[in-house]
Amino acid sequence: MSLPSSFRKIVVNQLTTDFRKATSIVTKPLPKPNAHQLLIKNRYVGINASDINWTAGRYFPVKSLPIDIGFEAVGEIAAVGSSCEGFAPGSPVAYMGGAAFGEYCILPAKQVIPLPDLRPEYVPLLVSGLTASIALEKVGEIKSGETVLVTAAAGGTGNLAVQLAKLQGCHVIGTCSSNKKVEFLKSIGCDRVINYKEEDTNKILKENYPRGIDVVYESCGGDLFEISLNRLAVHGRLIVIGFINHYSAQDGFKAMRTSPIPAKILNKSASVRGFFLNNFIPLWREHGTKLAGLILGGELKSCVDLGEKSPVGPFRGLESIPDAVDYLYSRKSVGKIVVDLQNTTSSKL
Ligand code: NAP
Repeated sequence: MSLPSSFRKIVVNQLTTDFRKATSIVTKPLPKPNAHQLLIKNRYVGINASDINWTAGRYFPVKSLPIDIGFEAVGEIAAVGSSCEGFAPGSPVAYMGGAAFGEYCILPAKQVIPLPDLRPEYVPLLVSGLTASIALEKVGEIKSGETVLVTAAAGGTGNLAVQLAKLQGCHVIGTCSSNKKVEFLKSIGCDRVINYKEEDTNKILKENYPRGIDVVYESCGGDLFEISLNRLAVHGRLIVIGFINHYSAQDGFKAMRTSPIPAKILNKSASVRGFFLNNFIPLWREHGTKLAGLILGGELKSCVDLGEKSPVGPFRGLESIPDAVDYLYSRKSVGKIVVDLQNTTSSKL
């Protein structure tokens, strides 16, 4: 593979939830991997709700700017460090972390997962899939026959939570905001879909599930968090996956501290549990292998949204990443939003 002398990447220049304002594209000399590193040419990058939490500096104290950005990518190896046995230029790989919103990225070889081929359908198995798989099993402790409620069910991680809970033999309820998403959720096996723009979520849950909900996979915060908490069954578990309703506001995280949680869970011996994927790194490989097996066996569908239905899509090239973030926040995406960094029609696929 012939390598350029420079490459482009997105960096964060100022801390704000406004992705466009926070970021710019810069050109840098192409780095060379050290003995234990690989240089990856990124092809498909995943868009996440928390990209704007990253631009707002909510993950760690940011001591100096600019910082890199981008949680996950699928690409091919461009150059191999001298001690990286088993890796060859041209091989398809996936990874999480690093600086995925760039044409190239340097990573320790141990962080890189080999793939059988180069396809956007692998991207949803990374942040979104691992979150659904590990959170439902280890934190939600879902069991066959239980009732599971998934909010933002048609989204990147939500649709995989729906499918995994169904595979586990659960009755799955999903919430979403449009009839297009209702149809999508029915197509992936969701037992009861609630379009909360047209139906009263609390009323439906109260009337149809009087025993309560055993496990909630909750991503939204606000009203949906309150309703989920109120409708927990005895011994119910509410997993806080996220609270996207609060992300766009500059002081968004502070708004989460007002809920009277203890009074609501005590008499049911129910639990509200937090989940953050980075706290489960030792389980990533095991769950990644499980998810890949389910996809290859046809039991799990990898649902990718490349932005074809967005007025400014499909998303191609680094320049389209801000559009893809806006698309996620427009609530119109279905499945996992993926940007194809190859800005030409000469795809190998
Ligand atoms: P996504 O679900 O693909 O897209 C976000 C969806 O959230 C929207 O389509 C929308 O669906 C719903 N939503 C509800 N209120 C919203 C609001 N005020 N603004 C925008 N969207 C809103 O996104 P994702 O990247 O997969 O993330 C989903 C959630 O999982 C986020 O809370 C994210 O932080 C969390 N997450 C957490 C972890 C972890 O380690 N804890 C890892 C990955 C993701 P409807 O309109 O249909 O409701």
